[in-house]
Amino acid sequence: MAYDQNNIFAKILRGEIPCNKVFENDHALAFHDINPQASVHVLVIPKGDYVSMADFTANAPAELIEGFMRAVGEVARELGLESGGYRTISNAGPNSHQEVPHLHIHILGGRPLGPLLDSRFEN
Ligand code: 5GP
Repeated sequence: MAYDQNNIFAKILRGEIPCNKVFENDHALAFHDINPQASVHVLVIPKGDYVSMADFTANAPAELIEGFMRAVGEVARELGLESGGYRTISNAGPNSHQEVPHLHIHILGGRPLGPLLDSRFEN
């Protein structure tokens, strides 16, 4: 899938629309999700044009992959989530209901979370 320069996270990275920022460095930007699904719900995005984890890990330079993954851990630490625990999720493609076609990792925590997946799954 080709990267869409007009996706909402590309606009946030360009500063065209605001976000509630919690972290930024050369590799990553983290901000609160506009529609939180947990008492803490932060999104971490890489500074680069990548649609998904598959695209990122296949095509991004090693320095960016390292910087982005380190940023995810640092954000969780800075949010004070380590002792209580937290969940990271990255949706990719239609089965996952990915809405925004720019790689992002959801960090969810702050209180006990529900089950990882809903109960509608059947073999
Ligand atoms: P996805 O379903 O693609 O994994 O998750 C996209 C997430 O981005 C959703 O949780 C949604 O609430 C969040 N989101 C969509 N638009 C915006 C926005 O303009 N600002 C922020 N901060 N979050 C957004």
